[in-house]
Amino acid sequence: MTVSQYIKIPKGVNVPKNILDSKFIKPPLEVIQLVESISPESHIFFHEHPIVQKSYRNYLDIFVNARLTYWRNYTNEPLWAKSYGEVLILRVLHELGHIVCGHKGSLKIENGKVIQIVSDTEVERCEKEAWDWAIRYRSENLENYINLVYKCQLFAETHPYTEVVDWQ
Ligand SMILES: [Zn+2]
Repeated sequence: MTVSQYIKIPKGVNVPKNILDSKFIKPPLEVIQLVESISPESHIFFHEHPIVQKSYRNYLDIFVNARLTYWRNYTNEPLWAKSYGEVLILRVLHELGHIVCGHKGSLKIENGKVIQIVSDTEVERCEKEAWDWAIRYRSENLENYINLVYKCQLFAETHPYTEVVDWQ
């Protein structure tokens, strides 16, 4: 079994400024292949940050919080996730949903705080669209989805976390 390792982000990747000091992790190969199959120009990374608990999409690039903060929020309707591995892949699919739906991609960050650049109703609509896309992907690609859940669960169980994991 290969243990995931921290990596340096290649040049040209749009890392949000507030997670520049995160530790970045190469996701399982199957997750990278999923992202490439849907959005060939995107990059996907997992990240661990001591304070920042969010996942981000910045332009076409995706950064998912590997610590799985609040993963239990995803175990209810409409997602019904059954494991933190499943939450990891759902978060990836959600961010992919934003890209596929063509949502605005840049974050405005001032003094370390994310400033909303669109109205609340627009954010709400985009969030729903991205989740709807993720749920649709799951139902239309169930076999691949189950394999992705398995790979992400394996990741979470074997990754040598340095920051506190929030799923215990
Ligand atoms: Zn979102």
